[in-house]
Amino acid sequence: MTRPIVPASLPQLAASDVRLLWVNDWYDVPREAVVEHAGRRCLLRLEDPSALDGSRDVRWVVYPLDPSQLREHTRWHEEYALHVGTHWCFHDEPHETFAEQEDEERQPERFMATHRNRTPVPLAALRPVAWLDALPLR
Ligand SMILES: [Zn+2]
Repeated sequence: MTRPIVPASLPQLAASDVRLLWVNDWYDVPREAVVEHAGRRCLLRLEDPSALDGSRDVRWVVYPLDPSQLREHTRWHEEYALHVGTHWCFHDEPHETFAEQEDEERQPERFMATHRNRTPVPLAALRPVAWLDALPLR
């Protein structure tokens, strides 16, 4: 069985080495999230969704985000929180671009339609620096 993404030379982190800030995509487990690691905001991605069948360990890969990539992820997260909800927020600091709004003011359909047509930050532009096999819990 090959491990397609994580080079063997990358260090393994403990769950306590990263702090979960928000989840971008959750299906059974966080498939993509933004975390803080060593003072930097990083993307955490599920290495290989096919591992969720139990055939091998599930691992997540840590990719540092540059300022423009972080801005893009932050912008989408804030739109999500604004129009869908803050249930995937694990950060303590408030969102910068909006005050809490009432549920009836949310427009989740508008967010989903816009999000579907976004240009995602290409994974190939990210360089993995570490991996972990346990989830960060905040
Ligand atoms: Zn948030």
